[in-house]
Amino acid sequence: MKMKIEIVDELTADDCLPKEFSEFEFSPDQNARQVNEPVQLTRKSQGIGGIIIPDTSRVTRGDLWVYRHRIVQVTDAPARDRDGLAMTEVQHAVLKQQKAFEKMKGEIELFKEFEKFKKFDGTSSAQREPIPEDVRMFVWRRDGGRCVKCGSNKNLEFDHVIPLAEGGSNSERNLQLLCETHNRQKGKTI
Ligand SMILES: [Zn+2]
Repeated sequence: MKMKIEIVDELTADDCLPKEFSEFEFSPDQNARQVNEPVQLTRKSQGIGGIIIPDTSRVTRGDLWVYRHRIVQVTDAPARDRDGLAMTEVQHAVLKQQKAFEKMKGEIELFKEFEKFKKFDGTSSAQREPIPEDVRMFVWRRDGGRCVKCGSNKNLEFDHVIPLAEGGSNSERNLQLLCETHNRQKGKTI
């Protein structure tokens, strides 16, 4: 069977295992290590003389891992995992999720900045042919909301690489973000 990796939960605010996972043991040593590498938790022994699992416990199939405060359930891991396949997959799943989350936050930030920028953007209103909104959004995202020359995010303007008057178009390939200073500078050299 194919191994299945699923991020099921995260550690509580004080870095403890939520009580739904009380069938597992999470040692202080593992808690310290989970920031740097995935750790596999041990299942408490059950039955006579064993630990009675409270009703709040969810039944977890397979193994439970913790990495970077995320709780990961691994089912159908290879019986003899000499290559550390499960560990690698857990690491990959968590890092991928966190990277996607960071990217999403970055995009939201970029959208918000674009909304602010639109309010005082004088580029389009002065032109006979305004730059379509979707093109402006595309260029804004592509250039990361910054001047392509100096990286400033202040006083930005859309610049036509080839000016409209010289036959340039309003396409994203002919547009770039420049700060006011660099846009002026460019104007002088043409
Ligand atoms: Zn600049």
